[in-house]
Amino acid sequence: MATPTSIDLINQAPEGTKMWILHLGNLECDEGFFLRGGGVSSLSNPNPVSPRRQLIMLAYLIEHPTEGLILYETGAGDDYPEIVGPQVQDVFSRVEYTKDMNLDAQIAKTGHDIKDIKMVVIGHLHLDHAGGLEPFRKTGIPVYVHELEIKYAFYAVATKTDEGVYLPHYLTFDINWVPFHGSFLELAPGINIHHSPGHTPGLSIMQLNLPKSGTWIFTSDQYHVKENFEKDVPQGWLARDHDAWVKSHQMIKGLKKRTGGKVVLGHCWDTVRDLKLEFAPKAYE
Ligand SMILES: [Zn+2]
Repeated sequence: MATPTSIDLINQAPEGTKMWILHLGNLECDEGFFLRGGGVSSLSNPNPVSPRRQLIMLAYLIEHPTEGLILYETGAGDDYPEIVGPQVQDVFSRVEYTKDMNLDAQIAKTGHDIKDIKMVVIGHLHLDHAGGLEPFRKTGIPVYVHELEIKYAFYAVATKTDEGVYLPHYLTFDINWVPFHGSFLELAPGINIHHSPGHTPGLSIMQLNLPKSGTWIFTSDQYHVKENFEKDVPQGWLARDHDAWVKSHQMIKGLKKRTGGKVVLGHCWDTVRDLKLEFAPKAYE
């Protein structure tokens, strides 16, 4: 897979582009899902306590002068526990949730209405990233997803070969799915998409080059927490292709070096604190 070289640096978003970070709730789960060897037993400690971790759910809204409102990922959906059922809620537990973390409420904090979104981009189709697609059914609004992710997600649900992470309620034919292909897509002025397989076959990260705050790299679940990115700890039970993950990791490290970008991980509270990120209504320009 070719790694882009220069276009990702010169593709600047126009003056007036804004970005908001949306806080769509919190999850708690066993760290073995996202850190290889998390909670592993040993001869001297045969029954360790499995560490549980607090995770954040994020999405990003971009106001773009020529493209309009663009949403990157959608969170788990407002009705997450009811939709997924008690078993999934017990394992991937949504906790400390308030109604102002609903997708439409978070968008309202930016001064916009969810109905005004012109384009949705999904990093990967797991239920905590695409579960909020419900408002975009029957609207005709394009929902961009990598070709390989669409194929894999529909296959996984239809054949029950990868259950519990994709759900049929948002993998419907009344969404205007728009596939993209290959390793790199220049989606709009200032917005590049990089295919980063590993966590899932079609996972794709977003690179946003803003005029004032510089480059942002939103990684979806290529990384759940900072150990994955900073300490090169591979993912645990949720990784689908380890070799592909390692290659994607190398690509993203290079991208950060070239651009000096701020790398915002899929679910990491530590990174939110380290980068001093502020949620909507704070706008980054
Ligand atoms: Zn996730």
